[in-house]
This record gives sequence, structure tokens and C-alpha cells, in this order.
Amino acid sequence: MRRLAVVLLVILLLAVIVSPAKAEPKLKYDFQYLFKWTASVMGIEIDPKKPQPALKMMPEKELLLLYEKKNGTKLPETDKDGKMIKIRLDGFYEVAKNSIYMADEINRQGETLEETIVHEIVHYFQYFYRPSIFNDLTCLKEPDPSINCPWEREARAIEKFFRLKHGLTITDEDLKEIFSQSLIK
Ligand SMILES: [Zn+2]
Repeated sequence: MRRLAVVLLVILLLAVIVSPAKAEPKLKYDFQYLFKWTASVMGIEIDPKKPQPALKMMPEKELLLLYEKKNGTKLPETDKDGKMIKIRLDGFYEVAKNSIYMADEINRQGETLEETIVHEIVHYFQYFYRPSIFNDLTCLKEPDPSINCPWEREARAIEKFFRLKHGLTITDEDLKEIFSQSLIK
């Protein structure tokens, strides 16, 4: 019995060492709130039979490595003119794992974790509730898919709409995006 206890203790210790308790990043609005808010803006009735996405937060460096590993590509380190750029990745949604991977901090001025989570939740709803938005993939061949793809335009506009509705500053450009998606009638 004693031996077993020691073994268990060792395993427990190892478990503690292997997965150090990480401080949960502070979200002003919790995930369930963001999930329901996004659904209501998209006019979606949440189906309890459909699995909800998991939210996984990690330091940005880890997020970048994970993204590159999952995509099997390295993100570009230079812009189209060959100038070095600092890669920024706030988050991404992976359909296969139904997971939203997020940086635990947003270093860009004025931006919030919440609006980025909302952006990724939009992609979840698009995939599970309105997959027809992905029928036409020709936009991916355009120079900037983030502007030309309808799913990106919708996610970006709802992200800006979140800012507007939660007392965060928005620009005239943001407002235009919000109007273009008829989020304000
Ligand atoms: Zn997106």
C-alpha cells in the first residue's frame, strides 16, 4: 500500500510538473456570453445538439508555432517588398478540432481579446450553421482573401459591431464595414 502511495505521489508530482497551472487570462465578458451574443447578432438559434467550440488560450509564440504546425507552413517573415515584418497572430479556429486557439494577450493597441474571440466564433457558426458561405472559394485566389472572402468580411464586421455595442472606440472605416453587412438597419 505504501509503495502504491509513493508511486501515486510521484505520478501526481509529475502531472503537476508537466502541466503547470496557468493563470486564466482575464476576460471581461466570458465565453458563453460571447457565444450567445454572436449567435443573436447572426440571427442563429443555438442547437444544443451541436457541439460548442472549445476555447484554448496560450502565449502568442506558442500560438504561432501551433498554427504553423497545423498548417504545415511557415508564416511569411517579409512583406511583398521583401521587408521584414513582425508576424501577428491573435487567434484561429480549427474546424477538425472544433477549437478556437487564442493568444492570451493582445498586444495591439486598443484591441481586445473578446472581439477576436467573437471573430472566431463567427467562423464556427458559419461552418456549423451556414456552410454554404464556403461554396465559392475563388476569393482565396485574390491578392487579399481577408478582404475578398465573404466569411472574412462577415467575421470582421461582427467583430467591429461587438466593439460598437460594448463602448469601445471604432473608426469610420469600422462603421462602413458594419453597415455593409447590414448589422445596423
Ligand atoms: Zn477570420
